[in-house]
Amino acid sequence: MNKINLLTPDVYNKIAAGEVVDRPYSVVKELVENAVDAGATQISVEIEGGGKTLVRVTDNGGGIEKDDLVAAYSPHATSKLKCAEDLFGVTTLGFRGEAIASIAAVSRMKIVSRVPEKDAYSLGCVGGKTGALLPAAGAQGTEVTVEDLFFNTPARLKFLKSDAQEESDVANMMARFILSRPEISFTYTSAGKLRYRSFGDGLSSALACVYGAEILSDLFEIHADKHGIRLHGFIGNQNFSKPNRTYQSLFVNGRYVVNQTVSAAVSNAYASYLMKRQYPFYVLFLDVPPEIVDVNVHPNKADVRFADNQIIYGSVYSVISAVLDGNSRALEYLANVPKPKAPFEAALGAGGAEKTAEPRAYSVPLPASPSEKPAMTYEQAKKELQFEIPPILGKVNLPARGTEKPYAMEVNAPAAAEAAREDAFEENRKFLLEQEKKRQQRVDPASLQFKGELFRTYLFYECGDEAYIVDQHAAHERILYDALCERLAARNVVSQPMLVPYVKKLNAQEFTFLRSNFDILREIGFDIAEFGGNFVKISAVPTDLMQIDLNAFFDEILSSLESLRAIKLSDLLKEKLASAACKAAVKGGERLSDGEVRALLERMNGNMGLKCPHGRPVAVHIKKSEMEKLFKRIV
Ligand code: ADP
Ligand code: MG
Repeated sequence: MNKINLLTPDVYNKIAAGEVVDRPYSVVKELVENAVDAGATQISVEIEGGGKTLVRVTDNGGGIEKDDLVAAYSPHATSKLKCAEDLFGVTTLGFRGEAIASIAAVSRMKIVSRVPEKDAYSLGCVGGKTGALLPAAGAQGTEVTVEDLFFNTPARLKFLKSDAQEESDVANMMARFILSRPEISFTYTSAGKLRYRSFGDGLSSALACVYGAEILSDLFEIHADKHGIRLHGFIGNQNFSKPNRTYQSLFVNGRYVVNQTVSAAVSNAYASYLMKRQYPFYVLFLDVPPEIVDVNVHPNKADVRFADNQIIYGSVYSVISAVLDGNSRALEYLANVPKPKAPFEAALGAGGAEKTAEPRAYSVPLPASPSEKPAMTYEQAKKELQFEIPPILGKVNLPARGTEKPYAMEVNAPAAAEAAREDAFEENRKFLLEQEKKRQQRVDPASLQFKGELFRTYLFYECGDEAYIVDQHAAHERILYDALCERLAARNVVSQPMLVPYVKKLNAQEFTFLRSNFDILREIGFDIAEFGGNFVKISAVPTDLMQIDLNAFFDEILSSLESLRAIKLSDLLKEKLASAACKAAVKGGERLSDGEVRALLERMNGNMGLKCPHGRPVAVHIKKSEMEKLFKRIV
């Protein structure tokens, strides 16, 4: 029989090192996080050999006291948590006290540090064995040098990738730090070459440093503070897309994470603008009260868990889709847009003496740091959200454009200011309508003259000095899709009874899940009921969805069981509606009668900026001058 042995700290640390640091970039990550936690405003990172031979991180933060240097190397030594309760309100990046000990166990490490008004000291450590504490020379702050990573664990060394690959992962990591901490000035040098330098003067400057200044003209800057949740950052405009997800950065309470709920919310908000295999660009900061987010999910802290995914999904989705769709809330969320008049200014201006009437209620100042809690409690937020975001159909179910209540109206305010505010909203609304018209390329339908068709697919229209070419299939598809969505939103659905009811066998979990969604399914036109055991019976389907493969449809619904639950149903339906619309629409190559051409144009109502439900443009626009250029009449 094997005797149970307690692991020596030496062995234990080597094992732990595998979890916290597995690659050079994770060493960089841990060291830079420590520098950030120490309050540094300047951090420089230097690597050699992709970080395998050298990683050096220098900061101008608070430093480590001489007496704490030894402690810093021991496992579970942290100055950031004192008791278990602290875990529920973590506001620093590090908190496990594992990183230094883990890295030191598998490298040659040296820390030189100086706290204000004291001398600098240095302490080295080779393979987990600390040397002597020595006086040193150094500026205020800390310099941590890590050489020969994994020199004493050859197995792990073998798993490292090529220097170039490791360097590129470190570079990605650094880009994220630059974005996530725009107030800190970073320099990053690899093999003697300066790769990044940021200036610590704000997010747009940080974006320019990472992606080049040109990108800013394709982005919207957003700010939203609601439901106790603050969302800000930059998102690509409706026409700006990237071929993969590497242009998406999310920081939750200052920490880079990949989170399925948020990325699904963003993707769905862009769904009607981007085609398949196009991905939105975003750099988003989500700040939530620390008590509703669990950062303690993974040792490498790459994901977080929210106490309630629905509230997070709903908030992110509603803000981003408002901005993209340009509805009346967009103005509120867009930063750096000329606003005609902010509602509270109007209110104050009209009221004169009302200056004391809590302007804060209308414009909640952004918290200075992620740790500062937003004003509303989570419980309040939950209540509000139920009111505001339709539980299931998401976008499909939102009130028609222009009819929704501007968000700020929900805030209680002195009655005297009410009227003035209404005016301001009216003004805002007009401004927005105009903006939207511009963006949507709306033209007066009466001014469009039909000039014929090409390839039985493209319809040509002239309108003053401009021409429009309409794809008949895309246009019809979009019109049908909108009609389907509207019918669903109005719950104005017609069901078609089935000759033979469809019976589906489920397991207990699936059954409970589906049953909790019965109401929704019924509202949209399914006649669905329990059928004994874990069976359900479907005896009627919405006419609009007659063509669907019921089995596949329900399997898809059930696939949402684990993650986003009901919310995913909306996207599922959207897709079903889109494909129903696609099937029903006239095809390219089908000749349309004059009457049909007229009807199509009528129903487009001059909206030449439409996209089909899959994100393809319905019409393209050519100016006369552009044609003249083509023929070299003008240059
Ligand atoms: P954690 O960050 O989880 O607390 P680490 O092992 O990364 O654990 O660091 C241990 C401790 O060493 C920290 O809690 C902090 O007190 C100190 N420390 C590490 N790096 C720095 C730094 N750059 N500046 C100041 N203190 C530091
Ligand atoms: Mg740390």
